Amino acid sequence: MPAVAAIAAVSIALAFGAPPDISLERGSNPNAVAPSVLNEGDPFRQLDETLPTPSETRTASGAPGPRYWQQKADFDIQVTLDPKAAELIGNQRVRYHNNSPDELRYLWMQLDQNRFTDNALGERANPAPDLSRPQGIGFMRSIVENREWEGGYRDVLVTSSGATLHTVVVDTMMRIDLPAPLGSGGTFEFDVSWRFKVVKSTVARARSCYELLGEGDPDVKDGDKVKDLAPIYDMAQFYPRMAPYSDVRGWQHKQFLGQGEFALDFGDFTLAVTVPDNWTVGASGELQNEGDVLSAEQRERLSAARNDEKPRFVITPEEAAARRAATPTGTKTWKFVAKNVRDVAFGASPTFIWDAAKAPIPGTDRAALAMSFYPVEAEPLWSRFSTHAVAHTIDSYSRHAYPYPYPVAISVNGPVGGMEYPMISFNGPRPEKDGTYSQGTKLGLIGVVIHEVGHNWFPMIVNSDERQWTWMDEGLNTFCQYLAEQEWEHKYPSGRGEPEKIIEYMTSADQEPIMTNSESVRRLGANAYAKPATALNILRETVLGRELFDYAFLEYCRRWAFKRPEPADFFRTMEDASGVDLDWFWRGWFYSTRPVDIAIEKVTRYTVEPLDPVASKGAKKVERDGRAKTLSEQRNAELAVRVDRFPELVDFYSTFDELEVTAEDRQRFKRIVSQLGDRDGELAQSKLSFTIVRLRNNGGVPSPLPLTLTFADDTTQDVTLPAEIWRFAGGAQASKLIVTDQEIVRVELDRYRETADRDPSDNMFPQEIERSTFAVEPRDRGNGANPMRTAQESTVREATRKSAESLAKRVAEAVKAGRSAGSVLTDVDAKDLKDGWGVSFMVLDGAEQGSGAIAQLISAGPDRAVGGDDDITFIVTSTGDALERAAAGGSRGGRGGGRGRGGARGG
Ligand SMILES: [Zn+2]
Repeated sequence: MPAVAAIAAVSIALAFGAPPDISLERGSNPNAVAPSVLNEGDPFRQLDETLPTPSETRTASGAPGPRYWQQKADFDIQVTLDPKAAELIGNQRVRYHNNSPDELRYLWMQLDQNRFTDNALGERANPAPDLSRPQGIGFMRSIVENREWEGGYRDVLVTSSGATLHTVVVDTMMRIDLPAPLGSGGTFEFDVSWRFKVVKSTVARARSCYELLGEGDPDVKDGDKVKDLAPIYDMAQFYPRMAPYSDVRGWQHKQFLGQGEFALDFGDFTLAVTVPDNWTVGASGELQNEGDVLSAEQRERLSAARNDEKPRFVITPEEAAARRAATPTGTKTWKFVAKNVRDVAFGASPTFIWDAAKAPIPGTDRAALAMSFYPVEAEPLWSRFSTHAVAHTIDSYSRHAYPYPYPVAISVNGPVGGMEYPMISFNGPRPEKDGTYSQGTKLGLIGVVIHEVGHNWFPMIVNSDERQWTWMDEGLNTFCQYLAEQEWEHKYPSGRGEPEKIIEYMTSADQEPIMTNSESVRRLGANAYAKPATALNILRETVLGRELFDYAFLEYCRRWAFKRPEPADFFRTMEDASGVDLDWFWRGWFYSTRPVDIAIEKVTRYTVEPLDPVASKGAKKVERDGRAKTLSEQRNAELAVRVDRFPELVDFYSTFDELEVTAEDRQRFKRIVSQLGDRDGELAQSKLSFTIVRLRNNGGVPSPLPLTLTFADDTTQDVTLPAEIWRFAGGAQASKLIVTDQEIVRVELDRYRETADRDPSDNMFPQEIERSTFAVEPRDRGNGANPMRTAQESTVREATRKSAESLAKRVAEAVKAGRSAGSVLTDVDAKDLKDGWGVSFMVLDGAEQGSGAIAQLISAGPDRAVGGDDDITFIVTSTGDALERAAAGGSRGGRGGGRGRGGARGG
């Protein structure tokens, strides 16, 4: 105890001196606090007030509760596709299981095809296009064709046990009034028959439509030449589907407006598709009657494909060509079974090449069959990439989300650019007609297949409500797509996922929070795909780390596979399973539109001031004497001063230096050292370097702070400070003490671009001069359209044409007279040998193969170079005629031919 008292009595304060080299302050006012942070309250306050109250259906941990329930609807569907009328005719039996605790007096079905009637809500609410801008020809087509086309369901009839049921259609929904209330646990069976005209790809943008391959269009009245027409049908949302009835919303009552997709319940399906007998069908589910629709050889190939990870043809390109050219002699019915799915869809066409490969499912001993269906127009791109991309998605998503539960996964090439259904997806990218393709097309295909097949997990397995929250399926899926793309090949240039790619959106004016209803989002791609995907990537890499994140994300998928999660279930599960409070993260990224923008304001380096007065006063002296003299001091150095004239004015203080070490200083030092003892004496004279980094949150979203410290010897160290630093800071400014052995000479924030910081220019201390380049436009300054010059040019051109013609006639005469073409040049005045642009005409002698020309006369045109489209060329024929040749292309061939035979150059 006494020893402690003795030390306390010394009461030395360790003084810290800061050398001025890196403590330069930036211009900002350290007392000002960004208004966005304080106006919206504590960014760390809990979400309890925002999230729904937990219940026995959905627990506070984010899991389904002990009383969780969901409805089930089983379907037996038969459809016939009539390609002549472009009509789909169907009937279906529905077994609706009421698993809810509630009694139901009516059911709601979704009639999505009614989105294409003229008086559909989505159609009438559609805002006008911007006609002050040019529109594509597709726009005109769709306007004109749409005026004659009639979409929507017709002849819808609902019966049960032979009796017609009363129904009421409200836009894209239909209420079925039950003959008797359906109690909890009860099942109601009924039949629905219907027909509708399938949307043509040129009429409207639709998730389900058909296209005509080949040339021309029989529906266009101006008599396009029609050749080799062959249809592809991408069929989805084609049958009346049950609206979901849930613990959260009761009956889903949001109409299909086009942007918000689907909300559905699970069920078991049988699907029978009748098509002309030369057609091929790929659908959700397992094919039940291979023997009826495939040849023995094709069935053998299909079973071989089940054991080979390299794609094999089931229908070869040659067979597809033959089917395409064939005339159907009847129909065939393709039968499928799909269990525990929320929907079914199919692709049908006589053009399909079909390949398949085994896709092992990680975490199980099962394998799925990955397949692609595509016309020859998709080759050679599709046979190389599509099925591999399907299998790769199964591999990657099964590891990051949930083992793929279904037997098949399909990618179909047709008119739909990218759309997803259970076990089947429609993907658009095709190569050029000559089979070459751009990098964008290649990556577009791989990316879209991963994305659309990836939707099997979100929302086909983890059954979130797309009509309410687009981000819950698109955002989570785009995040997993990013992971899968990065596992496809190194440096795969993913369009979404890297933090720096979201900065433009997060600083733009047209934002809503991610937590916004699907139909109310303006920039859907940025809001519902890219931003949540990026947020999850940051959560994984920077906030939680891969281990914690992956565990929690897998747990979310496990808990909610084949169930219906809401946003709160996701937020709560990610916190519950990772053990990390993330309310600030959801609040900043999902409930606000604020950007991330952190600045390093100031860095100050401290060292312990030496106790030894020789060292401490010496250091202060060095610092003082090292400073530059003030301007006046410099100018006054030679100034005559009074004490020079009166030396008696010089006394003790005239030469006294307060930084000289005094005897008293030395005695005090001795006393302190003896009182401190060895251990504390050492501490008090520590050589550690103390650095205080002051940061400012200009964006408002709390962000972790990944710092890279550079030391005097040029080595570096990465340190990440948690976002909670902003909680303790209680405002827009935070500071952190970093203690190191070596002096820190540089501090860099977010070096690895992991936080989506909007302004990296203030992320470095000391700041650096930014380097850039600017381009010098090599062309003259344009003055826009110049009709005067155009008119002059055409006058000159006409004059040149005339003189070329008369010269060509003289060449023709010379040739007729048996002289060489070039000989005419010596006969003509030098001034007549120049064209309107001052360049001599060129005369080429000799016959040109196949053209009948034996000589040519060429003006190089305004570009003064032979070979461009502006040349004026006359050819002289063996019969002695001079004929003008059409400008484009012709002059090129002529030039090559003439030179090759050593034609004479005139002038
Ligand atoms: Zn999507």
